[in-house]
Amino acid sequence: MTEELKATQTLFPNDAAAQPRPSWDEYFMGLAETVAKRSTCLRRQVGAVLVNDKHILTTGYNGAPRGIQNCLELGVCLRQEMKVPSSERHELCRGSHAEQNAITQAAYHGVRISGATLYCTHMPCIICTKMIINAGIKRIVFKNFYPDDLAVQMLNESKIELVVFKG
Ligand SMILES: [Zn+2]
Ligand SMILES: [Zn+2]
Repeated sequence: MTEELKATQTLFPNDAAAQPRPSWDEYFMGLAETVAKRSTCLRRQVGAVLVNDKHILTTGYNGAPRGIQNCLELGVCLRQEMKVPSSERHELCRGSHAEQNAITQAAYHGVRISGATLYCTHMPCIICTKMIINAGIKRIVFKNFYPDDLAVQMLNESKIELVVFKG
C-alpha cells in the first residue's frame, strides 16, 4: 500500500460498523430534513419528499412561489409577526407548504405521484391533507406533530397509511 493510500485511510476510516446502515424510512426522512434547510420561511422549516418504489419523485420545502419575494427576503413573516397560532390563517404567510410544493413540482415536470409515499418533517396541515388525498398519495411518514384536528380527522377517514417516524 502506498503512503498516500495509507494517509487517505486514516482520513476516512471504515466506520460502517459504528454507523449502521439507515432503513429506507430513515434514509428518505434524512433527505426531507436536508430539503427543509432550503426553506425561506422565518417561522418553521419544513421539508417533503415524494417517493415511489424507493425512487425519489419530487421534493419541496415551504417557501414563496417562484419569482415572488419570500419571508426571508422581506425579513418578516406576517404569521409570525401577528403571532398567529399553529394551523391557523395559512394565507398570511407568503410561502406555500413543503407538501404543496412537492405536489406542484410533480405537476410542473409531469411526474405521476399517485400511489406515492410522502416523507415530511411535519404532519400535514388541513390544506395539504386535502391535496395529498386527491393526489392519490397512499402513505405518509412524518416526524413532528402539527396541531390540526381536522387534518387528523380527514387523514383517518382517507385510509392513507400514517406512520410517525421514530428516530
Ligand atoms: Zn412565512
Ligand atoms: Zn400544509
